[in-house]
Amino acid sequence: MRSDVMPGSAGGRIAREVKASSPARLLKSTTFLNKKKHQLMFKEQLYIIDKLEGPRLDEDLSSGLRNRREGVRDLMSFQEKQCNTPSSELNQVNSIVKHASDLLDNNMESEESETVEEEGFMSIAPLLQAHHAMEKMEEFVHKVWEGRWRVIPHDVLPDWLKDNDYLLHGHRPPMPSFRACLRSIFRIHTETLNIWTHLIGCLFFLGLGIFYMFRPNISFVAPVQEKVVFGAFFLGAILCLSFSWLFHTFYCHSENVSRVFSKLDYSGIALLIMGSFVPWLYYSFYCNPQPCFIYLLVVCVLGITAIIVSQWDYFATPQYRGVRAGVFVGLGLSGVVPTLHFMISEGFFRAATIGQIGWLFLMAALYITGAALYAARIPERFFPGKCDIWFHSHQLFHVLVVAGAFVHLHGVSNLQEFRHGVGGGCTDNDLL
Ligand SMILES: [Zn+2]
Repeated sequence: MRSDVMPGSAGGRIAREVKASSPARLLKSTTFLNKKKHQLMFKEQLYIIDKLEGPRLDEDLSSGLRNRREGVRDLMSFQEKQCNTPSSELNQVNSIVKHASDLLDNNMESEESETVEEEGFMSIAPLLQAHHAMEKMEEFVHKVWEGRWRVIPHDVLPDWLKDNDYLLHGHRPPMPSFRACLRSIFRIHTETLNIWTHLIGCLFFLGLGIFYMFRPNISFVAPVQEKVVFGAFFLGAILCLSFSWLFHTFYCHSENVSRVFSKLDYSGIALLIMGSFVPWLYYSFYCNPQPCFIYLLVVCVLGITAIIVSQWDYFATPQYRGVRAGVFVGLGLSGVVPTLHFMISEGFFRAATIGQIGWLFLMAALYITGAALYAARIPERFFPGKCDIWFHSHQLFHVLVVAGAFVHLHGVSNLQEFRHGVGGGCTDNDLL
């Protein structure tokens, strides 16, 4: 395939055009380009139908192909009408797309004239060439996107991208390309810090998790068991943080992609909470495994329920922000019962010293503060438009989640060290 399907000058022209566009028009242009791309696909279908038709076909198949051709033509004319917009800017985009389309047509014709039918079989070369031309066109549309998009205000976002109306500007437009979304993590917009806070946090926990798994067995009382319970925590943290940064990265791809990733994001929070319980319950009820198993079972049932609830499509909508915060804070607060159990049986002093309960409270305070800021959208509700890029509630929530997970890791590491210090034995009056 020749590389001149889309000449550089045309690319430059469309880029300048897109750059000069107002955000609302920019959105219009994308839809427009998408429609044009579809038209090229229709054209390709017509081409294939033409190639398939011939004297060798029986009547049924021929009439089927004729109907299909009519259908495709109808779709094309329908889209053509939709694409008729008076804007001179869009007309220019149109002329460039038409240029690509003409090149595609010429390419098909020239290939057709060169085609030699061998022993009655149709040569596949023109079809492949046409397909390649289509791919080039698609690549071009994506390239325009990747390099040239600009941040847009909240009010021109499509409904599925409207989440927080206190963030007035700096939003990414819808970008139906995974590559464009991935590249956007290096640009400044409302999601930049949301992505990086959890991406960096994820890498830290991944590093710490690997370090922990390779610690010498001599540092543990029961190396395999202890590595499994710590592994549950690290797995929960790594999954939560990776689902989160992936969600924030691909959120603007399309409605369906954002829906899938938001469900993963919420499930990740439940996994982090469940994983956090495992080492804490293991060490806090070390000499009393029965309540340990019961509490573990309860938190797993509640966690799985939270994951099931978060698969509901409406769960991710802005109206349910408070419900979401409530579900996860509730899941975390199910830890109140084992904490009380532990404090009553150990006494406050032992719970606070060897029981590391202070770190547990600090972790709960960080998570709850984060969830409260998230639900109430503080501080941006007091300064609409001032926290679009830096310090809006979701970023603070992310930082507090990472901090809470670190605090918890510190607390359970202290519990582990204590257990290692006293050895694995349990006496009758020694619950911990
Ligand atoms: Zn988030």
